[in-house]
Amino acid sequence: MAEVQSLRCVIGGCRFAPEEVNYTCRLHGEVGTLDILYDYAALRARLDRDALASSKVFSAWRYRELLPIAPGSRLPPLAVGWTPLYDAPLIAEALDISRVWLKDDGANPSGSLKDRASALVLARALEKGYRIVSAASTGNAAAALAALSAPLPSIEPVIFVPASAPPAKIAQLLVYGAHVLLVDGSYDQAFDLCMTISAEASWYSRNTGVNPYTTEGKKTAALEIAEQLGWRLPDAVVVSVGDGSIISGLHKGFSDLFELGWVEAIPRLIGVQAAGSAVLAGAWQAGTPAGDIKAGTADTIADSISAALPRDRAKALRAVGRTGGAFVTVPDTEILAAIPQLAQLSGVFAEPAAAAAFAGLKRARARGLIAREETVCLLCTGNGLKDVPRARQAVAGGYAVEPRVESVRAALTGAGLL
Ligand SMILES: *Cc1c(COP(=O)(O)O)cnc(C)c1O
Ligand SMILES: [Zn+2]
Repeated sequence: MAEVQSLRCVIGGCRFAPEEVNYTCRLHGEVGTLDILYDYAALRARLDRDALASSKVFSAWRYRELLPIAPGSRLPPLAVGWTPLYDAPLIAEALDISRVWLKDDGANPSGSLKDRASALVLARALEKGYRIVSAASTGNAAAALAALSAPLPSIEPVIFVPASAPPAKIAQLLVYGAHVLLVDGSYDQAFDLCMTISAEASWYSRNTGVNPYTTEGKKTAALEIAEQLGWRLPDAVVVSVGDGSIISGLHKGFSDLFELGWVEAIPRLIGVQAAGSAVLAGAWQAGTPAGDIKAGTADTIADSISAALPRDRAKALRAVGRTGGAFVTVPDTEILAAIPQLAQLSGVFAEPAAAAAFAGLKRARARGLIAREETVCLLCTGNGLKDVPRARQAVAGGYAVEPRVESVRAALTGAGLL
């Protein structure tokens, strides 16, 4: 395990001892999300990346030594993380980029990257003896919490989701047996309700960004990218952004590795937002400090990146700023089109919010934010089966045939296959 040295506020650098604070900065409130910091000199002296690379633990827990988990702690049993990193030459060729890798986090147990954060928060809940763990979610964070806590009889998840969440995500919650509040309102409203009730009832909240352990969980995606590429990082990593917690987690993971001296440089982080939910892209362009960001619109078919007031706004702006990255926005039409494009170039079926990253990569390349001789890692954050109705909207085709050989022959002849 890595012993937590302190928690540091992203806005003012305010420092707290590990037991002093559960969520955000006492001075700066909700925007003052916290970084979990370790004694890096001690870790550097004790750990060795080659020893780690020989680990037989094929899940995010292979990085246990870099995570804030006490020795001997119980861990949620489902196999989160260690998701495939594919070489994607057809994407590279289509976009005229030297090399593209695709990390498929849709392969996680509940079908999205959110499993990484839920796993760590649940490990923490087990350690501290919490019974109720709450979360507000556009769907995936909740599904992750529900799935991973199902085999843990001492934990009861209570979930706040917009009633408009895709049916597959709501089905997941109910199938896994979580207590589900279907909020007749937006994600942002569900979030605020969850915060209020959780504080009142002293529940442990898994809420994105607000709980600093969510970032630590998500950083394991960055650790895996580094290890899977033999510790030679790509020039850029492209990821879709809603609350900004995934991009912040990637930044934390790469930064930890840099502190340890295990990687030589940190990739540029390119955040992709839906044009109808682009508060962070707007703030980045205008140079608005995180503390001054006001809620904007959240109107996109990509439900997982629909956030009017991104909860991890400060860390997300820092991630892009410090790495020399950028934000790009993509309209819903391009997000929808990206679903079959990505699937046909890679074999990976992404939900709208995840396909948005591919649409954003295309835009970033077209705008010269990525040069042809560069290398890129594209992160697929969620599985396409999460939202079949939207995927179906993006594709037409199929040959309607009568159940007769002649009819099939005619169709195949028309298609040029016979
Ligand atoms: C949550 C999520 C995102 C966005 O992550 P943030 O941390 O909210 O920026 C992107 N894609 C999918 C599939 C997600 O579930
Ligand atoms: Zn502070």
